[in-house]
Amino acid sequence: MSFLFEDFRGWKEYCSENNQELFEAVLEYEVEQKQRTEEEIWTGLEAAYQVMKEAVQTGLSEDMISRSGMINNGAKKVHAYPTPVLSKEFQLLISRALAAKEVNSCMGRVVAAPTAGASGILPGVMVTLQELHDVPDKKIMEGLLIGAGIALIMEKRASIAGAVGGCQAETGSAAAMGAGAIVYCLGGNVDQVFNAVAITIQCMLGLVCDPVAGLVEVPCVVRNASAAAIANSSAQIALADVSAVIPVDECVEAMGEVGQSMETRYKETALGGLAATTTGKAISNRVLIQDIEMLPDEDSIS
Ligand code: SF4
Repeated sequence: MSFLFEDFRGWKEYCSENNQELFEAVLEYEVEQKQRTEEEIWTGLEAAYQVMKEAVQTGLSEDMISRSGMINNGAKKVHAYPTPVLSKEFQLLISRALAAKEVNSCMGRVVAAPTAGASGILPGVMVTLQELHDVPDKKIMEGLLIGAGIALIMEKRASIAGAVGGCQAETGSAAAMGAGAIVYCLGGNVDQVFNAVAITIQCMLGLVCDPVAGLVEVPCVVRNASAAAIANSSAQIALADVSAVIPVDECVEAMGEVGQSMETRYKETALGGLAATTTGKAISNRVLIQDIEMLPDEDSIS
């Protein structure tokens, strides 16, 4: 019987009792629950990471203009800007997260990790981590498995969907996955991995889901970049053994409670927040008219 991903405390206990690494419990779970072989799971992870890398590359090289026009090659502009705000690596992290998410907003191929709306975060984080620290592919896959375990618990105890728990649930979960994976790949222990998740949740708590015109473009794309930055800052803090104070399971409970009490207009309905601004509503009307103009006329249907 593999561990069922109910909470972080149980995950740690299970690994300790069975002398397993965190990723091994996730692997066992996938084998048992999904009826797949270990080899199939590793192959799937490799394929997923390949798609992530391609999304980064595509977003940084091809034309990325969404049909609404709200997304217009932002990643390439950030990538090419001559002055890095912190370091070249930070600039790369931000431009990569933007790039992969822009591919999603322009209907390209991405990995929903854990959702399409948050699909730029893990590519930005993992590609940059691997390049910077020369992390072997196998370790990256193990980090992705740990990210999957983190998402399983967050889904169970709170949510990973903006429509259910706000953007904290969606980009917040992806950032937590990234933070845990970074700490693991850089040699952190179990407590440090979970502490990184707790710190990330604390930083993302309360973020509403308010996509302009109901399109997963604004503010979604820039939030992928900021969530990638938070994943890295949380990992940096956790690796230094700075405590989140509130244990990770309680942080997840808090995220669930905040998500439940969030008003419907902040849950992907495009009725609140940025979507309800004057400009947001004007864009929404323009997109609606665009859609109507693209409908085939009745004569051509019949
Ligand atoms: S604002 Fe909503 S749709 Fe956009 S990334 Fe966040 S959760 Fe997803």
